[in-house]
Amino acid sequence: MSRFLHVIAVEDAVATATRIAPAPVPEKMPAGSATGRVLAEDTPTDMDIPGFDRSVVDGYALLSGDTTSSSDANPVLLQCTGRVVMGSPDPRLVVMQGTCVYIPTGGVLPAGADAVVMVEHTEETADTVLVKRPVSYGENVLLHDDDFRKGEIVLAAGRKLTPQDMGVLAAVGCTEVTVAKKPVVAIISTGNELVPATARPGPGQVRDANASMLAAYLAEYGCETRLYGIVRDEREAFETVTGRAVRECDVVLISGGSSKDDRDMTAGVIAGRGEVLVHGIAIAPGKPTIIGRIEGKPVIGLPGHPAAALVVLIAVVSPLLDRMLGLKKPVLRVTGAVLGESIPSQKGREEYARVRIDNGVATPLFGKSGLLNTLVKSDGLVRIPSGCEGLEKGTFVEVILW
Ligand code: AMP
Ligand code: MG
Repeated sequence: MSRFLHVIAVEDAVATATRIAPAPVPEKMPAGSATGRVLAEDTPTDMDIPGFDRSVVDGYALLSGDTTSSSDANPVLLQCTGRVVMGSPDPRLVVMQGTCVYIPTGGVLPAGADAVVMVEHTEETADTVLVKRPVSYGENVLLHDDDFRKGEIVLAAGRKLTPQDMGVLAAVGCTEVTVAKKPVVAIISTGNELVPATARPGPGQVRDANASMLAAYLAEYGCETRLYGIVRDEREAFETVTGRAVRECDVVLISGGSSKDDRDMTAGVIAGRGEVLVHGIAIAPGKPTIIGRIEGKPVIGLPGHPAAALVVLIAVVSPLLDRMLGLKKPVLRVTGAVLGESIPSQKGREEYARVRIDNGVATPLFGKSGLLNTLVKSDGLVRIPSGCEGLEKGTFVEVILW
């Protein structure tokens, strides 16, 4: 076996990762608690929304033709024949030529009326109203199906539900939704030098940062996570834990031991129980990444360096999760910025530079890739495509925000 990784392009790695992603599993749940979940079915409305023609201002419902010549100097006089009461339309209220009806915002437009004049442009005295502005046909009126027409899809499958979606679902009377089940993701940390966050590291030891970081990222992404703790670089223990994780979860993420050193066991463990599909990606940081499969479930070997693990999670694992969730649009948050300094990059690999953003200027944080501090001092990542020898200062870039 070669001691070197067989490196493939990021897009090919993503294609492999998404190809082995299990299909979304639909489940029903109350709409009220579905924020952040991904819709698995189109949601139509069973009626026109709002369902009746209504006024969008406080004013007088009238016939627009009556107001054509009206102005401040020459107001039109109309007979006010009644008042619309909110929520209880009165069929006896009918607007005819020369008459009008008072209507509050959201009131049902009375029969005959085709527009509403704002109260600010009128003067009411006893049962007459002076209209000082012309209004056009349909002005200040929302039609019965202006928002949504009966049968129209209000929210399409593959959408991650937002707080405003909750409002729309309630408005169209949808109290139950079908969403993708949350993928259950196993998290395993490996390395003889690792100790849990609760322990004080002895000589040569470091605390396990990856498990907490991966779990938090995945939870926010819409997954359920299961932590399998720290596994030593010992084949038997490693295999036992991996086997258990594969049985209990939909996807397994293993951080550390993903390269080809004698002590790096991840690839061997995956190959022993399943298959290694990718070992090495042209990405920096994150080159020693493994994409494998055991019993039909994706098993990903992430690099041990936390920053590299996070980059691979964003660039390669999140498309796999998107597929499992049935998500149509990736949920990465991005912003535009101008590069404050040039970033050199090696052609032939995709690089992800950590940057800090101040007032629209992105400053790269150069530093050794194994450092944790750049993760908290930076605001996100700038992707430098593999065909590129770097980005010049002043270039407008897209920053993937943490
Ligand atoms: P490895 O990928 O196992 O070769 O590890 C590369 C570097 O990442 C080493 O310095 C490890 O100590 C470190 N590392 C591996 N796993 C973790 C982890 N879970 N948390 C923090 N650092 C880690
Ligand atoms: Mg290791």
